[in-house]
Amino acid sequence: MSAIERVYDQARAGALYAGPLIPGFQASAARMPVVSPIDNTTIGALVTGTAADVDAAVGAARACFESGEWSGMAPAERKRVLLDWVALIREHSEEIAALDCVDAGKPITECLHTDMPATLDAFAWYAEAVDKCFGRIAPTGGDALGLIVKEPIGVVGAVLPWNFPALMFAWKVAPALAAGNSVIVKPAELTSLSAYRLTLLAHQAGVPAGALTLVTGTGEDTGEPLGRHPDVDMVSFTGSTEVGRLFLKYSAESNLKEIVLECGGKSPQVVFEDADLDAAVGQMLSAAYWNMSENCSCGSRLIVQASIKDAVIERLKHGLAEWKVGLPTDPATRIGPMVEEPHFHKVRAFLEEAPAAGARLAHGGRIHAELGSGWYVEPTIFDGVTPAMRLFQEEVFGPILAVTSFETEDEAVALANDTQYGLAASLYTRDVGRAQRVSRRIKAGTVSVNGFSEGDITAPFGGYKLSGFGGRDKGMEAFDQYTQTKVIWYMNA
Ligand code: NAD
Repeated sequence: MSAIERVYDQARAGALYAGPLIPGFQASAARMPVVSPIDNTTIGALVTGTAADVDAAVGAARACFESGEWSGMAPAERKRVLLDWVALIREHSEEIAALDCVDAGKPITECLHTDMPATLDAFAWYAEAVDKCFGRIAPTGGDALGLIVKEPIGVVGAVLPWNFPALMFAWKVAPALAAGNSVIVKPAELTSLSAYRLTLLAHQAGVPAGALTLVTGTGEDTGEPLGRHPDVDMVSFTGSTEVGRLFLKYSAESNLKEIVLECGGKSPQVVFEDADLDAAVGQMLSAAYWNMSENCSCGSRLIVQASIKDAVIERLKHGLAEWKVGLPTDPATRIGPMVEEPHFHKVRAFLEEAPAAGARLAHGGRIHAELGSGWYVEPTIFDGVTPAMRLFQEEVFGPILAVTSFETEDEAVALANDTQYGLAASLYTRDVGRAQRVSRRIKAGTVSVNGFSEGDITAPFGGYKLSGFGGRDKGMEAFDQYTQTKVIWYMNA
């Protein structure tokens, strides 16, 4: 039996599990069911942690940090342990992919061939970076020697969303741990299974139990105590802007811990009439619908030059024939269910409201009840969307593309920037000068030209405006943000 079949079997038996991994601590006994969005059945149990679990995790993390067992380990040795972890993750790749599939409803093909390779890249890249980061020497005369060194920050909380469970774990934990911190992971309560497995594998590889602890549970019961804990030095958060704001408040009202926020988006795809549409259509569809559009950088607004708008919509509709909606366990599926019932209802409200607000349904709009009791929404296109509409301004996190047309370059830029978010954008044109001008004028952390991309692990990722605060995931920027700078100044008498 393959690792994937084994996970599916355990899911059918309701036997999957995630709970805290805190050395020497008896976890809270309270459990909540893990419900799969595929068919709304219970596939396992999740320990709903409490403030006591968080406190125990912080105690273990602090003790480990101060002991130097991980924070003081020689970088080459830390790298070796992390690379052993990477090897174990690679070995268990199919199992972790299948856990994300049944837990989040993500298509298994995406989990196997997109999420897991990117997850492994992130872990391996930061492991390799550990012993290649040098400090600096200040430009003094002979009377002094100034060393500018990087040190780990201390106890770091990583609070994760549900849309890319294994990958977001990697984006946060890999650099924070590589930099020598003690990390406490708080996965989203909807998707904690892969985080549990990844943490077990870390311990198996030799990461000390106190250097990487896991606390499972709801945002209120575990996320807030972590955000407010006086002995946590930093929280790195990915999730909604609304909850991100709360972490700034928790910090302000506790110990001014550092906060990094990676939040929501409403990213534009700007298409000029000189674009190579044959090459662009597949990219536009991926931007709009990849991961059921439960994607922070989802290109959910198509801002297209009026002269080609109808042609572009026709091509998108044609291309959508290849986007099979169905059970995410079917390797041919590209659109699985929404992650949970309340989220499905939120997406459905957008479907129902948009025509009433004046938008025209150009494609889709159905709810796939015939696929069982899961929360399926058909990829949908609304035309004639204006900046005044909620569909233009708010993050849907479901497969609804809003189309708006423009006449001039200035108008295109104004529309692209006309939301409170600034996470990502893509633009399509054959004119290099225009690509340069427009990409500079769009207020977003990542602008991809003639394609949809967040860049690879070398490229920092994060948002402008309400999409982010205080730092970046990925790239050496992420490694640096989990360190602090110390100056050691020798006076030569
Ligand atoms: P969310 O804000 O509801 O939850 C994120 C995390 O915060 C979860 O672990 C949750 O348990 C915790 N949380 C919830 N309420 C809390 C509270 N009151 N106090 C403390 N912690 C709390 O977000 P989500 O629904 O899991 O994820 C979707 C959001 O994440 C979208 O807005 C998406 O754009 C964003 N996202 C951003 C990026 C990025 O890199 N910018 C990446 C992925 C997802």
